[in-house]
This record gives sequence, C-alpha cells and structure tokens, in this order.
Amino acid sequence: MTATIYKSLYETLAKRKGRYPALDIPEFYALMEELFSAEEAEVYCAIPRGFNPASTIAESLDKAENEVAAILESMADKGLCTAGTFDNITFYGAPLLVPGIFEFQFMRGTNTEKDQKLAKLIHEYKNAVDNTQGPPKVTYPTTRVIPVDKKIEAGNTIHTYDQVTEFIAKYDPISVSTCFCRQEAKLVDPDDHCGKPDEVCMQFGIGAQFIIDRKMGRQVTKDEALKILRLSEDAGLVHASANRQDIDFLCNCCKCHCMILKDALAQPKPGISLNSGFQPIWDDTLCNACENCIENCPTEALSMSAQEVPEVNLDRCIGCGVCASGCPEDAISLETRKGVEPPPLDRKALREVIKATGSQGI
Ligand code: SF4
Ligand code: SF4
Repeated sequence: MTATIYKSLYETLAKRKGRYPALDIPEFYALMEELFSAEEAEVYCAIPRGFNPASTIAESLDKAENEVAAILESMADKGLCTAGTFDNITFYGAPLLVPGIFEFQFMRGTNTEKDQKLAKLIHEYKNAVDNTQGPPKVTYPTTRVIPVDKKIEAGNTIHTYDQVTEFIAKYDPISVSTCFCRQEAKLVDPDDHCGKPDEVCMQFGIGAQFIIDRKMGRQVTKDEALKILRLSEDAGLVHASANRQDIDFLCNCCKCHCMILKDALAQPKPGISLNSGFQPIWDDTLCNACENCIENCPTEALSMSAQEVPEVNLDRCIGCGVCASGCPEDAISLETRKGVEPPPLDRKALREVIKATGSQGI
C-alpha cells in the first residue's frame, strides 16, 4: 500500500516536470520517503493544478475536510505545499520539486540532523538526475539577471523590470531568507562555503507572505531590503529571478553554489542562455588595468586586450554588472545589449513560451 502511494507520487511529479523532474530511480524514493509521510504523499497527489481550498482536496480524497486541512497545514509548514489566505479561506498549491519543495527545505538556514539527512538525499538525487539527463537544454532563458542598476549608463532605457529597487518600492510584504543553494552545500559538507553572505534571498508580495507565515524567512522593511541588496552587490553576488516582468523572488547568486548560475555556466554560451539585456562598456581613460573586473566576473567573460583595457566576450557575459560595481576607478558602466527581447509579461506568458520552445532551464 505504502509503495503504491509513493509510486503515485512519482507519477504525479513526473507529469509536473520542472528543473529536477521525478525519475523512477531508487534515489527518488529514498528522498520522497524522507520528505513525505504516506499520508502527505496521498494528499499532495490530490491537489489539483492551481490553488484550491481544503474542501476541494478533501472531496477528491473522500475524507473529512478538517482531517485533510490539518495535513495540508502541516505540509505547508514543511514546504511540501504552498498556502495563501484570501477572504478567510486558505488555498493550497502543489509546488514542483524545483523550483519549489527542495528550496523550501533550506530557506530557514537551520542545521539539524534532519536538515543534514535531507540535504544529502537531495544532493544525491540531483546528481543522479544530472548524470542521467546532463545539463538542462536551455532553448529559451527561463531565468534572467537583473543588473546593478546604479551602473547603467545615462541615456539608456531602464525599464522598471530592470530595477530591483522598483520591486522593493512596489511590493509589500518583503521577506528575506537564507540562500538555499549555499545552505544545501554547507549541510552536505560543512567546509563547502564560499564566504558570501547567506541571508540574501528575497521574496515579494504573496510569495513573501507564505515565507513569513511558515517561518522560512523573516519580514524586512524596504530600508532593510535595500541594505541587503547593496550587501549582495558589494559581495559580488548576481541578482537573478524568473524571466518575466513581474517577479516575486530575487536570488543573489554566487557562481560556485547557485543553480541559476551553474546551469548557465554549463551551457555552450552562458551569455545567451541567461542575461539582463545589458552589457559593460569601458571608459579607457579611467581604467588603470588592475584586472579586478576580470577576476570578479562570475562567467569568465573578460580578458585583457592588447591596449591594456578589458574586453568582453558576449557569448559569456550575462550583463550582471558585477565588474562595474567592483571597479575602483568607476571605469565600467552598462549599456543596452542589442537583440535581447524584453522578458515575457507574467507567469502565464513565460509558461507559454517555455512550452513552445521546450526549454528545460530552471
Ligand atoms: S576593474 Fe576597472 S580599473 Fe581595473 S581593469 Fe577593470 S575596468 Fe580597469
Ligand atoms: S563582464 Fe562579467 S561581470 Fe561584467 S556584466 Fe558581463 S558577466 Fe557580469
């Protein structure tokens, strides 16, 4: 009976796909049995696409609503389903493994024996999937970089969706949580840490409310959110989010641990698979050839030209602006990159283009 339930969980998750889809391999079942009790797996499979109240899910299971509501509440606390309350009714959704359930496990930044066990199982499962499927085939960028806006050259068009500060001004509430990529790595191997700040991943609006309600992160003021943004920029982290104009999360990524950058770097042309729509330009008269920008660039897009001024390889440049924010002479700014389409308007538009192109990016 229990084996049948986990098989159903496999079938449900296999249909929903995502960056790490369900594979019918021992590593999948070992992980699922640690994440979900049999009862929770059964409830997860009964959650229809979209968001639904406990009554709908209970009806499809032929169980009492209060019994199913209690299971859903506990699952939301564990990051096995999402939840949001509107007009006093709580609606539940079934997230993918990635993005979704895997990330929720490590956003609290805790380090218990259970966290360590889960991190090891997730790590083994991801390795098994990567070894089976190879790097994702990014035929359309599903994520995008948001540039360091203060370095954009005057005279260029800066859309509101190009500016993290605009999202901070627009949304309430805002939450911050631990970078799940760096936390997962640390849980697997305590020595595996790059020294970049951990509590820098932000969520906006409804997504933030879920993170706050379920104690996966904490609410921050707009001022604190801006400070976190500048802390991330000073540390050379890359702002990244979904490739759409209305983002609801912001990762601040390092190249050594974060999935978005690692996936981009596994592509033949990282600068085509992931970019901000901007590229760096140099004021040759200011550059002192210190090579900081070459060292700081997360994608190895820079090299020194014969004229002793850095030059950029656009096949590798993701337009993050890390080179510009770390230049001691202020010799680098960002300008609009030609030929980059604006991001799809919203989640639905992005989903349609991903479906049309068969892109497997996260
Ligand atoms: S960091 Fe600035 S000054 Fe140093 S090489 Fe790069 S552009 Fe020139
Ligand atoms: S050259 Fe490197 S650091 Fe500069 S914008 Fe491009 S990817 Fe970012």
